[in-house]
Amino acid sequence: MAVAKGEAHGCIVCGKLYQLYVVHDADGNYLGSKVMTAGGKEVTGYNRPLVACERHSADEIGMAADRVYGRPSGPEEDE
Ligand SMILES: [Zn+2]
Repeated sequence: MAVAKGEAHGCIVCGKLYQLYVVHDADGNYLGSKVMTAGGKEVTGYNRPLVACERHSADEIGMAADRVYGRPSGPEEDE
């Protein structure tokens, strides 16, 4: 059973706030999210609700998300 909840999250790049519907399963595992505010998009692959403005490039978003949360998988390149 999935549980959807409204939450406000800031853009991973610039911090602009977006309203999301965040969906977890009954055990609290993150399933996905939907951005309700115009101009934002979901950032997938980090197993948590992440949002970014549509105007940011994939590179910008990826670098910002990796800086905060680390890469979900792949080689370790931290300094
Ligand atoms: Zn932004």
